[in-house]
Amino acid sequence: MLSFNAELRLRLDSIRQQGLFRELRGVDSAQGPRLQLGGRELINFSSNDYLGLANHPALKEAAIQSVERYGAGSGGSRLLCGSLAPHQELEAALAAFKGTEAALTFSTGYATALGTITALLGKDDVVILDKLVHACIVDAARLSGAQLRVFKHNDLNDLADLLQWADSKSRIKHPASRTLVVTESVFSMDGDHAPLKEIVTLKEKYGAWLMVDEAHATGLYGIQRRGRAEELGVSERIEIQMGTLGKAIGASGGYVCGSRVLVDFLVNRARSFIFSTAPVPAASGAAKAGIRLVQSSEGDQRKRQAMRLASLLQQAATVSGMSPAAPDSLIVPIVVGEESNAVSAATEMRERGLFVPAIRYPTVARGSARLRLTITATHSEADMAKLLGALKALDLGTSPLDS
Ligand SMILES: *Cc1c(COP(=O)(O)O)cnc(C)c1O
Repeated sequence: MLSFNAELRLRLDSIRQQGLFRELRGVDSAQGPRLQLGGRELINFSSNDYLGLANHPALKEAAIQSVERYGAGSGGSRLLCGSLAPHQELEAALAAFKGTEAALTFSTGYATALGTITALLGKDDVVILDKLVHACIVDAARLSGAQLRVFKHNDLNDLADLLQWADSKSRIKHPASRTLVVTESVFSMDGDHAPLKEIVTLKEKYGAWLMVDEAHATGLYGIQRRGRAEELGVSERIEIQMGTLGKAIGASGGYVCGSRVLVDFLVNRARSFIFSTAPVPAASGAAKAGIRLVQSSEGDQRKRQAMRLASLLQQAATVSGMSPAAPDSLIVPIVVGEESNAVSAATEMRERGLFVPAIRYPTVARGSARLRLTITATHSEADMAKLLGALKALDLGTSPLDS
């Protein structure tokens, strides 16, 4: 029998052979439009810090204040140790921001999906996911034990068929069976948008529940920048709105916004909330400041700036593989196909002073590897010009770039 380490080395070799090996790259600077990486400064097109709040003085100051007042750690879970003021205040701010009765925060967006879906569903229920939802939703759906079905990405006919199936078939067997539809409003690896209005109409027709992950939309869409649900006027018809505080909000943590009874239920049943140490005060303090900033005129300006820079890229897009979809998106995928081509394209971009991640399986399907560019409010026009130049010079054809 192989030793433990020999066994793992063998598995890693196989990952390498498929062009799927990943490793951590040390960064010696704060997250921002420039990164210090391996002794070099690179322009950063990898970050989900869309509004440039992660290193904003207001968020840093709020984090410091929270540490000064409430300490570095949170001591335990909130049910056990009491719910600290920074957590309570953050949830009040979130509910007010989203216009919902209540909000509940978790330590990450990942933990939010895991706790929420497994609390709501069991083996007699049905969960229906868009093909391209985030891994945390897939994992949560599997863990819930509910019957799992997947509809083709943004395909309303496919969704309607599955809702019909769930309505007729599963209810005959289990009259109390519930159906939950889960989608994202802006998809994390493609930047395109879900047809939320139509999905809301459909789920209502079949009496299903809807959970929408606004991880890449919160802080960016709608007049009050609550997200796509606000922009489309469907917030009140969505049972569960979730998201992360780690992207446009600039801090860290996850949240659910919805009815008071939903939040009370999750406090009683969401295991990733109950059995986990509460977020540190600094994270909750910074997130609250992030929410305030997003809603301010500065937040509006930052959002406009990011969208304007992204549209420069879309307009000038003559780069093959670049998705023309979703013009008002800060996520720009350049689909390369082969895993190894994506890796060499990312290397070439680094050589030109640009940090762009190569996204491969299992984050996206095999054979749809890509560069994933994210544009933020803190990029400059010069950065965009440099990016465009580098993209145009990239050879994205079938010939391997590294040969
Ligand atoms: C990033 C992301 C999450 C996870 O949020 P974290 O706070 O990073 O754990 C969940 N859903 C989607 C769509 C995401 O992009």
